Amino acid sequence: MTNYWFVIKNRVGACALSLLLLFLCMGCGSPQEQAPQEENPPVQEAGGFVHTQIPVLYYHAVRLEEGNELCMPPEQLAEQLNYLREQGYRSIHLADLYEGLYAGAGLPEKPIVITFDDGYLDNYENAWPLFQKYGFSATVFVITDAVGTSGYLTWPQLQTLRDGGWEIAGHTATHPYLTDLSVSALQDELARSKKDLEDQLGQPVRFLAYPYGAYNAGVMQAVRDSGYQLAVTTERGWAQQKDSALEMKRVYCYANMGLAEFERRITRADY
Ligand SMILES: [Zn+2]
Repeated sequence: MTNYWFVIKNRVGACALSLLLLFLCMGCGSPQEQAPQEENPPVQEAGGFVHTQIPVLYYHAVRLEEGNELCMPPEQLAEQLNYLREQGYRSIHLADLYEGLYAGAGLPEKPIVITFDDGYLDNYENAWPLFQKYGFSATVFVITDAVGTSGYLTWPQLQTLRDGGWEIAGHTATHPYLTDLSVSALQDELARSKKDLEDQLGQPVRFLAYPYGAYNAGVMQAVRDSGYQLAVTTERGWAQQKDSALEMKRVYCYANMGLAEFERRITRADY
């Protein structure tokens, strides 16, 4: 009888302790503090982590312009970069992403690609110093006929960014809707801009962003024929191994999105 009582007493005690622990955990663990569950967590191998999905952020201008969400205020970009650094993210280039997704190359545990569309002057004046400060690197998609014109990067600035470790990629010559062009005009946009970038920067250009995110099967074929290996869209989501390399999704970043929304987009592939 005594032994039986002890068993019950111990069980009640253990149960109460469990409830207390559960209560404490619920009380102290806000949702933000819980590690997000990745659908396909990276696998660690000798050469690094193998990923099947990677967030590719995209921005445009980096300056304060009220009412234009395409212009990211520098202090908001700084806040996001600070968050990325605190969370242990490492910026990689599209070249790394391509090797990682399609050739199984090892990558950092928390890789992220940060891209800028159009090649605005403020990417050099406002973003570049912040990237240096926080220890990140970016990819710029350049409209080659706009280089050196008002509000856009110059060739010497692009060379400085290249020397500073930024990746320079294509965004056509004149930023047209590629889906509206004749075959010859399409080929000219893709080939001429690629050659200008390669001549000016002395390195191969293998990656492209579709202007306005507009593409179709014919555009993809022309992109492939022009020698590009990978192209990014404006479709919502992370770059995924299961997708075609010419249809990589990206994560849109916009003014006043807030750090919580930024965090949500880079921690959930299905945001
Ligand atoms: Zn663009």
